[in-house]
Amino acid sequence: MSFSSLGLSQALVNAVEAAGYTSPSPVQLLAIPPALEGRDLMVAAQTGTGKTGGFALPILEILFPNGKPDREQRHRPRQPRVLVLTPTRELAAQVHDSFRLYARDLPFVSACIFGGVGMNPQINAVAKGLDVLVACPGRLLDLVNQGKIDLSGVEILVLDEADRMLDMGFIHDVKKVLAKLPSKRQNLLFSATFSQDITNLAGRLLHNPQRIEV
Ligand code: AMP
Repeated sequence: MSFSSLGLSQALVNAVEAAGYTSPSPVQLLAIPPALEGRDLMVAAQTGTGKTGGFALPILEILFPNGKPDREQRHRPRQPRVLVLTPTRELAAQVHDSFRLYARDLPFVSACIFGGVGMNPQINAVAKGLDVLVACPGRLLDLVNQGKIDLSGVEILVLDEADRMLDMGFIHDVKKVLAKLPSKRQNLLFSATFSQDITNLAGRLLHNPQRIEV
């Protein structure tokens, strides 16, 4: 199975080949087709399985079908259409780098938001307009509450490493962020394990999800 037979356009195929990927990993094989169909996903996958490509590649294909900006994109509102929540700044930075690597041939704009550093560069990055926002919940909530970030245009939500997000006590912040999102959206939940807490969260968050375990 090749990346192009999964429904990814040449711009993305070229980028993953340049990154040295010869074929999709198991989680990518299972996650990319239903994600492209707009389905909600509940994915059990560890770091190192290629899970980031499992959500970033179909998201980029949805934003840029056949490598072209979609209709929404051409009349782009300045707010993010995709929000990826991660538990740590290291993961946020990694996910952000992966999006940029895969989108190297696309007119793609993103920003990365996390605590412990100055707010102004992040506020300025968001103010320029963007497609994808990768963020840790605490700092994101701060900026949303300050009116610096508008999440009302989010069409796709990714919760990455959801189990760590709960373990680190971010569930209240996550719930407050979720309350700012439009209710009609696609949700992609990735977690190393499916504890009872994750299953409960998934039950509230996901609509008829495709369950994937690798
Ligand atoms: P992740 O599980 O998303 O953290 O990815 C782990 C590592 O695998 C990263 O360094 C990716 O660049 C790499 N990777 C992701 N997908 C593939 C693939 N299909 N083939 C080879 N390497 C990959």
